[in-house]
Amino acid sequence: MTTQSRQPLVAGNWKMNGNLTLAESLADGIEQAELQVTEVVVCPPFPYLAALSKRTLTLGAQDVSACESGAYTGDVSAAMLNEMGCRYVIVGHSERRDGHQESNALVGEKAAQALSQGLTPIVCVGESEQTRQAGLVESHIAEQLKAIVDSIGGEAIAKIVIAYEPIWAIGTGQTATPEQAQAVHRFIRGYLAEVDPAAAAKIRILYGGSVKGSNAAELFAQPDVDGGLIGGASLKVDEFLTICQAANA
Ligand code: PEP
Repeated sequence: MTTQSRQPLVAGNWKMNGNLTLAESLADGIEQAELQVTEVVVCPPFPYLAALSKRTLTLGAQDVSACESGAYTGDVSAAMLNEMGCRYVIVGHSERRDGHQESNALVGEKAAQALSQGLTPIVCVGESEQTRQAGLVESHIAEQLKAIVDSIGGEAIAKIVIAYEPIWAIGTGQTATPEQAQAVHRFIRGYLAEVDPAAAAKIRILYGGSVKGSNAAELFAQPDVDGGLIGGASLKVDEFLTICQAANA
């Protein structure tokens, strides 16, 4: 499969930022954009999903419970996200892996739970600065991917999105070079091809980590980079749309 046959995807991860007024104004700006090719997804904080579900934009959530329902105070189920109009959900963001001690196995269970309710998980993987310096990027990412494949099964690979987010690049302004990103994206696709070559050719692999309007085009031009997961820059509508346009090209 050629790169052209994978539709580019740009997802904005708003994290715990802003307020309802900002959410509505970002949504206004995104809805007015004319993008023929790029699929655009916004992932607002949970409380704003209901208001934004009345709009035409494609919604994602920032996390999901690994459990179906029950006594899990503070958690949100995949079925609830589905009911709120979400089509995507981010799982395994490094801020959850590190800040909430989410293990590879738990991230795998969350991805499986999302799929069971018809949501597309955007599964984040990525290494720390220390891991990169130790030369362990590929073994680290392979462990993260193995847990996902073990949990969802090889046949489901084509139904998920992977986001490669080097932790040292998230929110730091220190973007991976296009060559660094491509090397890891190629590794990820190659790893998945060992399990299911057809699915690996179809899966979209996003890059995340200090993507801006000024560096998006060169990152997205890499053959295995199919779009981006955008944090800080997704909170400024013009910047975010410049990134979406770069994927559109
Ligand atoms: C993120 O947190 O997913 C992210 C990529 O953040 P930023 O774009 O701000 O680096």
